[in-house]
Amino acid sequence: MAGETAVQFEIVIGLEIHVQLMTQSKMFCGCSTKFGAPPNTQTCPVCLGLPGSLPVINRRAVELGLRTALALECRAQPRSQYHRKNYYYPDLPKNYQISQYQYRDHPPLGTGGRLIIPVDGMERVVGIRRVHLEEDTGKLVHEALEDESGYVSGYALVDYNRGGVPLMEVVTDPDLRSPEEARIFLGRLRTLLQYIEVSTGRMEEGTFRCDANVSLRRPGEPLGIRTEVKNMNSLRSVERALAFEVERQRRVLADGGQVIQETRHWDEQRGVTFSSREKEEAQDYRYFPEPDLVPLAVDEDWIADVRRRLPELPEARRERFITAHGLSAYDAEVLTSEKVLADFFEATVAHHPKPKAVSNWLLTEILGWLNAQGKEIQDLAVTPAQVAALLRLVDDGTLSIRSAKEVGEEMLSTGKDPSRIVEERGLVQISDEAMLRGVIQEVIGEHPGPAADFRGGKDRALTFLVGQVMRKTRGRANPEMVNRLLRESLRDQG
Ligand code: ADP
Ligand code: MG
Ligand code: ZN
Repeated sequence: MAGETAVQFEIVIGLEIHVQLMTQSKMFCGCSTKFGAPPNTQTCPVCLGLPGSLPVINRRAVELGLRTALALECRAQPRSQYHRKNYYYPDLPKNYQISQYQYRDHPPLGTGGRLIIPVDGMERVVGIRRVHLEEDTGKLVHEALEDESGYVSGYALVDYNRGGVPLMEVVTDPDLRSPEEARIFLGRLRTLLQYIEVSTGRMEEGTFRCDANVSLRRPGEPLGIRTEVKNMNSLRSVERALAFEVERQRRVLADGGQVIQETRHWDEQRGVTFSSREKEEAQDYRYFPEPDLVPLAVDEDWIADVRRRLPELPEARRERFITAHGLSAYDAEVLTSEKVLADFFEATVAHHPKPKAVSNWLLTEILGWLNAQGKEIQDLAVTPAQVAALLRLVDDGTLSIRSAKEVGEEMLSTGKDPSRIVEERGLVQISDEAMLRGVIQEVIGEHPGPAADFRGGKDRALTFLVGQVMRKTRGRANPEMVNRLLRESLRDQG
């Protein structure tokens, strides 16, 4: 027993990520990719695989694929070949999927790239094996039918609207060393794809899906036998599924057994993976070059043009937030983790050039509110100009921080201008000396004990008196002035 637990295994993980591209039309025909249309209304002879129809490559999809390949520092291949991947399944009317396969002289669109991720404060370079384009399958909808006697029979319907929608596959090298690293990598990749406007990156909606390959080996040994885990619909589930699979394999190996190369499905409810007994090997797919498409030629000018039009990437933006805006590494990390959030931050700073104050407000008040409401930054009813206006009201002393939070909350839920909310609620901060002195006199008169304590040297008594002034003014008194005026009054009358 002791011997078994002493065996140290190294975890090896490689990911295959499928991304639905944000194009208007499908990969090889002009049908719309719009989500949610009635079943089978977005189909044509090409995507239904009817005899005699011919595919035409979607230029926009290639452009998005190129953009991804370049952002991942891949070599963009000047000539790439499409292949047929043959298999039979009802969601695939042609009985083959047009994809790209790695032959020595038939490379996919992008090869040999990398993405750097932070791991324990260090940088880990994760190799990108390939980026290629293919088409999505249709969707099966399983239904159950119950007759009068209560007998239930199942049947399935198929919707081909998704059939032929452009899919991009990104495949990493087996460079990840823990389930946590896999999650961090996926988060970084998703952010990158959002920045370059290739994908919405929504795993829950299936536009960003990940199959995770994992194996164990003793240090120094060649790669072990891997399993491929599917069916995770969040970054968190990828991490959990991999952690489960690592433990399962560790037990098999520690008992002297062998891991079987297979596909396993993740069961989110039960928190386990189970074998699905699918064991396709490459040869089962009978890949061969797609005879209906000539090789895709991408010339140098096109590649250069795509490269030139790449936006600022997350890593560069994170760096700039630290150097140009003076933010902490942590704040810069969170703000740039989503492009919309980073854009919102910069637009607000443009109206109110105090990056730290803007960052604090966004990260605590706004993200906190969105979290509580279960909403996302895109759903915000307020504009960066309105947030800037609110922060200016704090800056010029019109609002106390406490009132600003109140106004901020109403602004977020109604979209009203902060100045209007301040007016409606009568929240303008009281900075009128004469008026505050009046209130202070009342408070000192009502609480002679604490007043005497303060004069006797008990500083803490002042906090109590300040609190009383705030109460009388319903929190609107300018706290710094109250503090100063109270001290003055107590000293003068002492
Ligand atoms: P296939 O094309 O048969 O799916 P690939 O060689 O393209 O196989 O690899 C698919 C994915 O599996 C890649 O992300 C790769 O990094 C990963 N991978 C390959 N071998 C292993 C292994 N032994 N352990 C973990 N991951 C692996
Ligand atoms: Mg594979
Ligand atoms: Zn079509």
